[in-house]
Amino acid sequence: MKKNSKYCLGIETTAHTFGVGIVDFEGNVYSRINDIFTPESGGLHPMLVKEQHLANFHKTILKALKEANLSIHNINLVAFSQSPGLGPVLRIGALVSRLLSQKLNIPIVGVNHCIAHIEIGRLKCQIEDPLTLYVSGGNTIVSAFESGRYQIFGETLDLAIGNMIDSFARDVGIAHPGGPKIEKLAKESKHYLSLPYSVKGMDLSFSGLYTAARRLIESKEFNSKYNLSDVAFSLQETAFAMLTEVTERALAHTQKKEVLLTGGVAANERLQEMIEYISMEHDAHFEVVPLRYAGDNGAMIAWTGVLKYLHNGEDEIKHTIIQPKQRMDNIEIPWRE
Ligand code: AMP
Ligand code: MG
Repeated sequence: MKKNSKYCLGIETTAHTFGVGIVDFEGNVYSRINDIFTPESGGLHPMLVKEQHLANFHKTILKALKEANLSIHNINLVAFSQSPGLGPVLRIGALVSRLLSQKLNIPIVGVNHCIAHIEIGRLKCQIEDPLTLYVSGGNTIVSAFESGRYQIFGETLDLAIGNMIDSFARDVGIAHPGGPKIEKLAKESKHYLSLPYSVKGMDLSFSGLYTAARRLIESKEFNSKYNLSDVAFSLQETAFAMLTEVTERALAHTQKKEVLLTGGVAANERLQEMIEYISMEHDAHFEVVPLRYAGDNGAMIAWTGVLKYLHNGEDEIKHTIIQPKQRMDNIEIPWRE
């Protein structure tokens, strides 16, 4: 523990991850511990996720304190993911955070999960003002800072990209999360099969692509004219080209000089390659958030909590109610002006 340092403990609970992170007010990260719910079959059932988070939150907090070599009494601020996410799951983080705040008599702040992804990216990649492509199991958003807010320039109209790939993977018997295994399969092919490409204005739709990929697997021609690697390759090429098109148009419009790729799907090397290419074409510096911080984690919540607290002060308890549907572009960002 450093003398005179102040520490924020952040709790991430929007979906599968109960994440706890501890940072100081200067942005040094001392711990990042994740307890992740993995479905045995099907998608994320909020009630099952909630039960796991309820069972494990205490030991996850203790592990984070141990990793940081701190006691709970060294914590000066608690931050939690207030929005957006699965209601029953968000409620666990809000409850635990309020309990900590009241028991320890320390301030509490609620944080928007999508904004937290951008802020930890800016911190860890040491970049100022990026256009961000945030791609994960639950979100697909192209965003940049303009007029005091993180404006949304493009987003999915239906499935999130990670969810779409995971669902396809599940249909072909690949365990959750399917993204990394689909990437591996895709690397074995160069045989592109035509699939629907759906960009509507600046927004994306992945449901038609998902259905068409499933049809390829169910077809009589599967395993005679093409194989699973070919479908995985075609699915990735189509979905990532859609993401790249929207990101490039947002880049041309905003004229940003930095591009940030984050979220769990940022791990994908083919997507990295495509976004890096358009960044270069527009003379923009490209960064992938280190994977430890690109997926959901408590450190991003803690750091965004510090930024918010230093500019807005603490949240009153009545303002710590969860907001499962809150959009990032509805939130003012005073620390960026
Ligand atoms: P997150 O929701 O940010 O925690 O990220 C989880 C999502 O990232 C899941 O949908 C994973 O399948 C996906 N993912 C992780 N690694 C990869 C990869 N290499 N390629 C594609 N998707 C990935
Ligand atoms: Mg996320």
